[in-house]
Amino acid sequence: MPDTPAPTDVIDWHARAAALLRGGGPDGRALVNGRRVASTDGASFDKHSPIDGRRLGAVARCQAVDVAAAVASARAAFDDGRWAHQAPAARKQVLQRFAQKVLAAGDELALLESLDMGKPVAHALAVDVASTARTLAWYGEAIDKLYDEVAPTPRSGLALITREPMGVIGAIVPWNYPMIMAAWKLGPALAAGNSVVLKPSEKSPYTALRLAELALEAGLPDGVFNVVPGFGHEAGEALALHLDVDAIGFTGSTRTGRRMLEYAGRSNLKRVYNELGGKSAVLVFDDCADVERAARTIAGSMFFNQGESCNAPSRVLVQAQVAERFLAAVAAEAAHWAPGHPLDAATQLGALVDATQLGTVLGYIGQGQAAGARCVLGGRQVRQDSGGFYVEPTVFDQVAPTMSIAREEIFGPVMSVLRFADEAEAVRLANDSPYGLQASVWSDSLNRAHRVARALRAGTVHVNQYDEDDITVPFGGFRQSGNGRDKSLHAFDKYTELKTTWIRLD
Ligand code: NAD
Repeated sequence: MPDTPAPTDVIDWHARAAALLRGGGPDGRALVNGRRVASTDGASFDKHSPIDGRRLGAVARCQAVDVAAAVASARAAFDDGRWAHQAPAARKQVLQRFAQKVLAAGDELALLESLDMGKPVAHALAVDVASTARTLAWYGEAIDKLYDEVAPTPRSGLALITREPMGVIGAIVPWNYPMIMAAWKLGPALAAGNSVVLKPSEKSPYTALRLAELALEAGLPDGVFNVVPGFGHEAGEALALHLDVDAIGFTGSTRTGRRMLEYAGRSNLKRVYNELGGKSAVLVFDDCADVERAARTIAGSMFFNQGESCNAPSRVLVQAQVAERFLAAVAAEAAHWAPGHPLDAATQLGALVDATQLGTVLGYIGQGQAAGARCVLGGRQVRQDSGGFYVEPTVFDQVAPTMSIAREEIFGPVMSVLRFADEAEAVRLANDSPYGLQASVWSDSLNRAHRVARALRAGTVHVNQYDEDDITVPFGGFRQSGNGRDKSLHAFDKYTELKTTWIRLD
């Protein structure tokens, strides 16, 4: 069994895609109680690829009745203890087999992810598949190393503080990293002994369904992990309103995150953990000697995944003295990010997820131009003949902090550059945002790096780097970027209840 994804340049991805579609396309049926099923009323929706508009197949359009069946199967599985009562070491083995199966099916999963939402297949394999497997394996590995607590009480009593699985977790995830976002919920929720009902985005349903099949093959009992594809206002709403769901692990837009809190208030006050949008600020100071490295790193992080990353460094604050150098180096780096066919192994920048997202991105580019920002790179839709949705890497200079391209999440390959005079102004501009997901400071002064990192209101602050990432560290935001944290041991807090048991000692 391989322990790393296969090299992509030896695979003919176009031929594999053609074979998949000749064979009837991916299976879009739901997975409930261990079986693939159509939606109860037989309704489905057509899924097209953003790469070229090709129809991929029909996907079950789950409604409240289907969600109810999935929640009932998850509840039954939880209540009879077929998973929750297994020893932690046994759950660990299943999750590790699950991770191995993800790696073994890496080519297939990477192809599905790329066809479904437009990212380069090489990235889907090297990043998405690898990270999904690592996440599942890591939480599996962790679960038999966690101890509970005995409180320092008076001798007359003994107080045990234990963690218990919550029950049924609803996971609602977006389309930009479909597998990884699912794994960030599945890893800690399943390892802790919960059952899960996963609602993938209607824009990227296929890999979630395949993951659930692989989990069954790995030995996860029926009913523990269910997948209900469908639309947000139908399947998503039904899951978030369900009275027998104990917590919602949500990743998506801040707009939908607000709704999650409303649904909880209107139903059973289920826990809601929101991982939401961002407009992450980068601060490049003139005491950063290697401005070119800063520019290369930031441009790479900005254009990776077509700019469709919650933590994309889309708000770049540059000290005026080094702004021209910075912009020249960004332009040089952007030359490596020309949009290409996502199934070509060399492609770095693929297709935006759909026509709506294309319209949103082009709309923001238009707003930036109309507001007087200077578009110094890109700005256009390209590859129209393909039938897909592609936008050039785009950079705006002389962006004012009040412009929409400085304040709102664009979710496309668009970087806004603002110039600042001194440190106080840089920190003020960086914190002037409703979001607080990530930030990055570029300076060779140790004092300044620490001072500014401390002043920034963000869940993660990078210093002289961006995008360094590991499953061992929490991921999440301040302010309207959400609450709770995915990844790391802290994620167990979201999917476990703390119980205190008092025992009187005579
Ligand atoms: P979205 O909010 O439109 O959808 C996310 C999920 O919620 C989808 O499954 C969707 O079907 C569902 N949904 C939509 N409306 C719903 C409703 N009324 N009721 C219930 N469910 C509903 O977000 P998106 O466009 O899929 O994803 C992009 C957003 O996700 C961006 O804002 C991005 O920053 C954010 N994101 C955040 C993180 C993070 O960790 N903080 C990671 C990735 C993406």
